[in-house]
Amino acid sequence: MEALWWIPLLALACALPFLVPRWRLQRALAQPLPPHALAIVERNIPPYRRMDAATQQQLLQLTKHFLHTKKFVGCEGLEITDEMRYTIAGQASMLVLNRPNKVYRALHTILVYPGAFLVPRREVGAGGVVTDMRQTLLGESWEDGRVVLSWDDVLHASHHWGESHHVVLHEFAHQLDSESGHTNGAPYLGSPDSYRSWSAVLSRDFANLQYDAYYGRTDSVMDHYGATSPAEFFAVATETFFGKPWQMRERHPALYDELQKYYRVDPRDWTDAPPPAWTPDVVFTAPSTLGRSYAIANW
Ligand SMILES: [Zn+2]
Repeated sequence: MEALWWIPLLALACALPFLVPRWRLQRALAQPLPPHALAIVERNIPPYRRMDAATQQQLLQLTKHFLHTKKFVGCEGLEITDEMRYTIAGQASMLVLNRPNKVYRALHTILVYPGAFLVPRREVGAGGVVTDMRQTLLGESWEDGRVVLSWDDVLHASHHWGESHHVVLHEFAHQLDSESGHTNGAPYLGSPDSYRSWSAVLSRDFANLQYDAYYGRTDSVMDHYGATSPAEFFAVATETFFGKPWQMRERHPALYDELQKYYRVDPRDWTDAPPPAWTPDVVFTAPSTLGRSYAIANW
């Protein structure tokens, strides 16, 4: 009988690897954000200033969770500062509001360059001719749990919220997209009905954007880069949803509604409507020959 004393100790030893990280996370979440960090969030995440108190609190908790579980690495000699950490973590956390415990489980590292960075690319052309080249990028998202960002462009977007491209929102939308197992413009949505609705709406608007890009229309509310593939369409649509919500709702109401269902927020609550001078163009539909189906993820 006395030989059984070690059983509780063994159980505790087995549980410790799970309990200690959990305890450390809870302790980190219980700490208030330092005043300088809150000032960074208020300055570099403009929608935060307009959120209600409960949403603000939720965003700060998600930001702390993100910072506790992800590693930041400076590239080309860049020293990671609190401004970089809180800005990137806060903007990425906007995409996972109202989703309990969802903080990019597969993501582990954010690499930050001072500015746009060069990456090697290999293209296989006609006849199997291989061409090695270098491409300049503002951001990159990898399915193995890495995101790469240009800090110059993160900061520029932070200070020009309604005008600019949003590299953080773009790359973290790719991370959400890849959680379904394929980065194909269809993130994990849950029910078959949700996938059917998503596919119908995004396929149509993707085709319309391809049409805009093909004919060089300059009045699209979405960047033509979104016409390159369904995955890029979802990432660009995410940027537009959070950056120009009023214009997107006016020009792409069904797409806006799909994104609102997926992201569980309405960014119009966090920004003023554009001036009355702004008038939407007539919505048109591309010929069906330009249509392209969205890939449907497994569920
Ligand atoms: Zn992209």
